[in-house]
Parts: sequence; C-alpha cells; structure tokens
Amino acid sequence: MASTSKMVSTVIIFMAFLCTKALSQCEEETNNPCNNKSKALPLKIIGIAAILITSIIGVCLPLITRSIPALSPDRNLFVIVKAFASGIILATGFMHVLPDSFDMLRSPCLSDNPWHKFPFTGFLAMLSAIFTLMVDSMATSMYTTKNNAISAEGGESTTGDHEMAVAGGGGTHLHGHHHRPKGPIGAQLLRYRVVAMVMELGIVVHSIVIGLGVGASNDVCTIKPLVAALCFHQMFEGMGLGGCILQAEYKPLKKALMVFFFSMTTPFGIALGIGLAKTYKENSPSALITVGLLNASSAGLLIYMALVDLLAADFMGPKLQGSIKLQLKSFAAVLLGAGGMSVMAKWA
Ligand SMILES: [Zn+2]
Repeated sequence: MASTSKMVSTVIIFMAFLCTKALSQCEEETNNPCNNKSKALPLKIIGIAAILITSIIGVCLPLITRSIPALSPDRNLFVIVKAFASGIILATGFMHVLPDSFDMLRSPCLSDNPWHKFPFTGFLAMLSAIFTLMVDSMATSMYTTKNNAISAEGGESTTGDHEMAVAGGGGTHLHGHHHRPKGPIGAQLLRYRVVAMVMELGIVVHSIVIGLGVGASNDVCTIKPLVAALCFHQMFEGMGLGGCILQAEYKPLKKALMVFFFSMTTPFGIALGIGLAKTYKENSPSALITVGLLNASSAGLLIYMALVDLLAADFMGPKLQGSIKLQLKSFAAVLLGAGGMSVMAKWA
C-alpha cells in the first residue's frame, strides 16, 4: 500500500512538473545555469562547420555510388539503395515534419480558438497531398499531350508503340538508360527531376527550423549533444535526398548546386538563429503558426512523394515486379531507412 501511494504521489508531482513546464514555456526565458552566451557562440560556429561537412558527406554517398560498377543503374543494388533513400524520405515526412507541426499548432502557447478546436495540421497536410497529386497529374498529362503531338508529326510507324507507352502511364513506364529517347528527355526522367527539386523544398523548412533552434539557444549543456544529433540527422536525410538526385541524372553543375543548397540549410538556420537571437522566440504565437503551417504542407508533400513517386513507382515498376527476392530485399532497405530516420526523431 505504501508503495502504491508513493507511486501515485510521484506521478502527481511529475504531472504538476509537466504542467508548470508547459506554462512557463511561453514566458520569457527562465534563469538557466547552463546559459552562457560567450561560451555558446564558439560551439555554434563549430556546429555550423560540422553539420555542413556531414550533410555534404550524406548527400554525396548515394551519388558516388555511380562510379562503383556494382551500383550501376541496371544492377539490383541500385534499386535497393533507392529503396533505402525513399524510406528515409517517408520517415522524414511521417516522423519529423508531421509530428513537429502537430506539436506547434497544438501548443499551449497558442490561443484555444481556433487552434485547439480543429486539427489544422492534418487538414493542411491532406490539402497539400491533394495539391501535389494535382500538379503531378496535370504536368504528366501536359507532357504526354505535347509528346503525342511531336510523335504524330514524326510518322505513323511508331504510333502503336507510343500508344502503349502512354497507356502504361508515367509511373509504371520506366525508361531505362539503354533506350532513353534522344530528343526531349523521357517522361520518367523529367518526373524524377521534378521530384528531386520538390523534395528539396519539402525538406528545407524542417532543416532550417532545427538550425534556428540551435542558433537561438545559449544553453551550453544542450548545444553539444544537439549538434551531434543534427550531424547524424542531416547526414541521414542527405542520403535520402542523394538517392533522389541520383535518379534525376542531373549534369554535374546542377548536381553540385542541389548538394550545396541542401547542405547549407541547417548551417544557415543556425546563423539566422544567432542573428535573430534577440527577436526570435521559438514559442511566440507568430513563429509557432508560421512554422507549424509550413511544416504541415511539407509533410503532405513529402508523404505523397515518398509513397507515390518514389516507393510505388519503383515497387510497381517492371524491375521489382519481376523478382520477389529483389522485392523482399528492397522492403528490408525501406524499413532500414525509415527505421533509422525514425530513431533520429528522438533528438530533432
Ligand atoms: Zn528531424
């Protein structure tokens, strides 16, 4: 009996602690013994460099696989690497961006009306997914119409083939590297390029916001472990994005730009946080609403793209449909990527 009442009182004290913590979060920063502005700054600058380097390593890992013969696009290992990358993107949407948005828009620092009366995060994520589908479908149909017109001018001998290709649809008709059309780039390649670009936009908000948190904080006790966690976070996420850039087959300059843009986001967020330390308050209603809404839209976009444009496109494609063994290996890779990124959600 004694132990039960002790347990109950512990729970009550713990809950009271949680409540006071939730309340004090919205107010001005309390006196934290770890706060030390002059000591925090060098740590943040080291953090910027470390995160920049690990991000570059992460994105480049899938890209350098190009030079390894076992990983050429026709090999099975290439499909498995892509599945792993898609898993990471899926987990970024489900495990990082979506829960962040829920936390922000349901924050006790926001007024009850309207924020606590309606699940804005789910609503916006859903709208964003539908919108992505709309753009995806319209862009594809515009592209096929244009291509039909081109092939109609070209002659009648290829008409049958072309109709079959159109019937196959963008998602299932995979243009291998062996027979990519010479004139306009293939529909599938164009799709991969759009996916890589949009994916980068989908990740960008989350990457900047986690950097902002580090930049605006002066807590020397938490900065070090947080920077270490962010290094892994960006490296892993970089591998996911790298997989998308890889299949988009960009020219070297464009590839380098994509790598640079992604690697810059979190360091930029930290720098911004240092610059805005006085004015930026993580828990101010305007910051919560802006970032929460942006995160919700990113989440819908990332989840749609990961499921439809990356995973379903590959798993329903001829290569994976042709081999159950390869399918199982790819599923293992998806789980590994998604699992790894999910573990990161513990920290950032
Ligand atoms: Zn995250």
